[in-house]
Formats: sequence, structure tokens, C-alpha cells
Amino acid sequence: MNSLYFNIRKKCPACASTTSKTIYKQPFDQPPIRDYLIDFYSSRGRIELSYLENGNYILEECDHCKLIFQKEIPNDQFMERLYEYWLDPQKRFEHHRKNDGLDHYLYYAQEIMQVMTYLKKQPVDLKFFDFGMGWGKWSMMAKAFGCDSYGSELSRERIKYAESNGLKVIEWNNLPDYQFNFINTEQVFEHLAEPFETLEHLKRALAPDGIIKISVPTANNIDQRLRLMNWKAKKGSKHSLNPVAPLEHINFYRRKSIIKMADKAGLKEILIPIRKQYQYMCDWSGIKRIGQNLLKPISLNLLKKQNYLFFRKTSFD
Ligand SMILES: [Zn+2]
Repeated sequence: MNSLYFNIRKKCPACASTTSKTIYKQPFDQPPIRDYLIDFYSSRGRIELSYLENGNYILEECDHCKLIFQKEIPNDQFMERLYEYWLDPQKRFEHHRKNDGLDHYLYYAQEIMQVMTYLKKQPVDLKFFDFGMGWGKWSMMAKAFGCDSYGSELSRERIKYAESNGLKVIEWNNLPDYQFNFINTEQVFEHLAEPFETLEHLKRALAPDGIIKISVPTANNIDQRLRLMNWKAKKGSKHSLNPVAPLEHINFYRRKSIIKMADKAGLKEILIPIRKQYQYMCDWSGIKRIGQNLLKPISLNLLKKQNYLFFRKTSFD
């Protein structure tokens, strides 16, 4: 019997290849997936098991770009229910209020300064856009620097909050009316049903010399995690399956999957020079932090170990 709430993906959502191999398959409404979901959503809001009936958690690996993607994904109705009701907006807001300390905002400021120095323009001459802005914190920081700051978001609660803070929220269809110098996507592309088409659309809103950031979860030991399939491993731990979390993290990118997707969309990777990254690092509060600061630009630009990438239009060459 077909499920009421799932869509089936017939090709790789990043590169459109139709050849992939199945690496894992279990019904959503049976252990271990059901138990994982109950545990995960109970603390974040609620879960309604009826939505899971006849759906299967299937992990596919694309033969071409090696993206690991979930084959059955929530349809629009289920997505909305999941992000607006299972994940309780009030609880999420409280979670951020409690946990986002000074270092959190410092990180936003640092990133924005690194991007600005790369763009070589005065902040007031820049238009920034945060795609999937959440509560709009990043956009507020960009605004504080004097940028013309925009964002978009699906969640009504979050849009209301962002607008109450003076941010400009724009609609998906109106995006090509804008020419942004920088488009930020932070932990967004792993959630998207159609990441390639989304990237193509975002590119239309990019100024000729503009840049776009794609930042998604990194797990360099993903193959080991997928061999162990330990659903009890805690989020953030070495064997955690959070990078392929059922229903939400429906795309897991290897670095080359992102590069191939971007290449197909006419985008080319750029690196923010190491010197400019060091110049705007803000937090030197202890030995551990100093070590991390010193290593990070090397890890990004030379070792290329992080799923944290910047692109510009290929046609700009
Ligand atoms: Zn692919």
C-alpha cells in the first residue's frame, strides 16, 4: 500500500543521475527508526505516528556524485506538519534563547566580516540574503554592520519574529528580482527536497560577482557510521546518525557531491584567503580556542575537510 505522506525520489536530487544503490532500508513505523523518532521529537515537541504508516526509511547512494539521500521523503503537507508542529516553535525559540551565548553571535560577526573583506565593498553597499533564516539572527547581525539585509523562511512564526526585528522577508518567487552580493545558506541544503533546483533558483538572485555559501553537516567517517548503524549513538558523537536523520536530513553531502551539484548549476568554488580568515577571528579566549582558530583556515582551504564552501558564478571568469 502506498503511503499518504511520502514522495518517492526517482533520481539523485543533487546531480540528477538515475543510478544509485540502496544502502539501508527499514520501515519508519517499526524499531529502530520509530524508536529513534519518538526519542528525538518528544523532547522537541511531539510526534504523530500515523504519518509514518507505510513509509520506508531508505538510504540511497548516488553512483555519480556519491550523495547519500533518503528515497522516501515527507510530502509538502507532512513537511509543514513536521517543521511547524512536531518541532514546537515556542520550544525551539526557548532553546535558542537559553543556548545562544556571546560566542554564537561572535561567530556570526566573524563570518560576516570575512565575507565582507572578500567582497571588497563598504558594508552599506552590500545586499545580503539569508536563505532559511530561522529566527533571523544572522540577518540581524548583517544589518548591524549596515548591510541591506534580507531573508526568507517557511515557518510563519519565524517570519513574524524576523519582521518584528525590522528584517525584510522575501518570497521565493520574487527572488530573481534581486541581485545579492552574498547569499547565506547555513544548515539548510540537507533539508531540501530539491537541492539542485533550489540552488539554480538562488543563483538567479546572485549579483554577477556575488558569492553563495553552502554549509551542511560534515561527517568524514560517514561510511563507518553507515556500517555500524547505531541508532542509539548520541547527536554530536563519533557514530551518531544525525547526519542522515530520518525525515529531516534527507540529503547527506560528501564534499564532492556539493562541488558537482554547484558545477551543474554553473557555480565554481572560491576560497576566502587564509590571511583574511585570520584577520577577522574574534575569540582568542583560551588554549583550546586558539588551537582551533589556527587550524580552521588550514582545514578549510588546504585539507578541505569541512562541508563549508563558497561559490561564485562560473560565467564571472
Ligand atoms: Zn548524484
